[in-house]
Formats: sequence, structure tokens, C-alpha cells
Amino acid sequence: MDYSPKRMQEVLDNNAFRLKKQYGQNFICDENIIDSIIRKALIDKDTLVIEIGPGAGSLTYKLSLVAQNVLCYEIDTSLKDILNSNLKDCHNVEIIYQDFLKANVSEDLKKYSYKKIYLVANLPYYITTPIIIKIIEDKLPIDKIVVMVQKEVGDRFKAKPGTKDYGSLSVYLNYYYDVHKLIDVSRNVFIPKPNVDSIVVEFNRKEQSNKVLNEDIFFKLIRDSFNQKRKTLKNNLREYDLIKIEEVLHKYNLDLSVRAEALSIDIFIDISNALSR
Ligand code: SAM
Repeated sequence: MDYSPKRMQEVLDNNAFRLKKQYGQNFICDENIIDSIIRKALIDKDTLVIEIGPGAGSLTYKLSLVAQNVLCYEIDTSLKDILNSNLKDCHNVEIIYQDFLKANVSEDLKKYSYKKIYLVANLPYYITTPIIIKIIEDKLPIDKIVVMVQKEVGDRFKAKPGTKDYGSLSVYLNYYYDVHKLIDVSRNVFIPKPNVDSIVVEFNRKEQSNKVLNEDIFFKLIRDSFNQKRKTLKNNLREYDLIKIEEVLHKYNLDLSVRAEALSIDIFIDISNALSR
């Protein structure tokens, strides 16, 4: 496959394809970036890869060379001709033309046997967070996620306590996954060029050690603690048993005047367990 921007434009023009902003269509035209994603994702022939939004198939093609199978979800049916042509030799690729957010992925996975599942994608930016939340809430058995996302969003995913990007989403994700950055990606490698730079982030599934006694209480505590980010815990958690919370905070030399953004996931787990007993 030729990955140059010129060739990509020709392919789109030859198929009378008009890029759709509402679907977050920014197609990669840089073979080095794709190779780097493939290399760092450490995919092998025991890996079933899920790709959301194959677009013109640039990433899909290289995924198919290293993976056991590639299962793609693409919302835009007008990409069918381009994908059929670009992926004509890729017999281990299946494309389901459907909105990923509405897909029954567990059902779709039933016909595959695999040792591990990775999700690898250049995500449509307008639904990055809902996609990650769906993967978590649907309890999809995904061992690793390698996704290209808008830099600002990626910064929130991997944010550490005490930084401006740290919020309920960071805690929620860090409960399930270890998150870190793999590569920076310039806005110049896409057609059309987006207004922002991107990063590729990797999420590795954590072994759940069942430290949280009651997940409902834990997730509600996270949501409520960050309800108004600039407020102290005392103000955000008025309805809670503040004596129990303060007891836990004292162990860490903190008190109720602390803000949620300063608390690590382990402190949240400790508080939630104290409230669950
Ligand atoms: N993978 C291609 C690449 O890197 O060149 C295209 C990436 S582009 C950023 C995002 C892709 O996701 C587009 O092909 C778009 O049509 C598709 N898409 C957008 N919303 C979607 C959804 N809800 N479900 C599945 N695919 C979607």
C-alpha cells in the first residue's frame, strides 16, 4: 500500500469519497507512524485485534499482517469500496459496518477463538471517551488498548494526582488499566489536517486484586469527589460520613480541606472501603 498523502487523496477522489467531519475522519498518511504503532503494540499471531474506524484501511492493512484476526467497526458505509479494494488480500479482516457505540461486541466475538484481545485504533475524536467507557462498562475482555487520541484527551487519561488534567476519568481508568504514552503524533500526518496534535496511549489491563469492597460505592465516591473540582472534599461530600473519611485522610497526613485532585487511587479505595464497612 502506498501511504503518501498524494496517493490517499487520489484513492479518495477516484472513489468520489468526501471526508465527513461529523465522523471525525482524519486519515493517517504516514507509514512510519503506523509501523511505530504496530511495533509498540506487540501484536502476534495469537492476538485478535479490534479496530474502531478503519477509514481507508491504512492501519488495518498492517494490523492484518501481524495479528491473528482483525475485527473492525466502521460507521460509514460509503467507505466500503475503498476498504474492499485496499484490503482485498487481507483474508483475516472482518468489517462490521455499524456504530461501535451500539455494537454488541461480546456477541460478535463469539465466532473467534483467541488467546488475547487488543484494541488498536486511530479513534474518531468526537467519541473517544464514550468508546473507552463502553469498553469498561461492557466488561469487554480486552487485554490491551493502543489508541491514537487528541493530545489533550490523552493527557487526561494518563494524568497523575496533583496535576491539572487529573479528574474522575483518570481515576476511573486507572482502576482498570495502567495508562502511559507511547508516541507523539503531529497534526501534519493526517488528511485533512486536524486543529490539534495527537498522542498514542497504551492501556494495559491491571490484575484486579479486588481491593475495592463495593464498586458502586467506589465509583459514586469518585464522581461526587470531583463534582466541583475546585471545592474541598468536605464541600463535595457533605452527604457522606465525614468522620470515617477524615479518619482515613489522617493516615495520609491529610484532612477534609483537601481537594479530590490531590488524592491517589489508593486513597480513594481506602476511603470507599471505610464507607463500605
Ligand atoms: N483508521 C483510519 C486512519 O487511521 O486513517 C481512520 C481514522 S479516523 C480518525 C476515524 C474513523 O472512525 C473514520 O473512519 C470514521 O468513519 C470512523 N467512525 C466514526 N465514528 C464511528 C463510530 N461511532 N463507530 C465506528 N466507526 C466510527
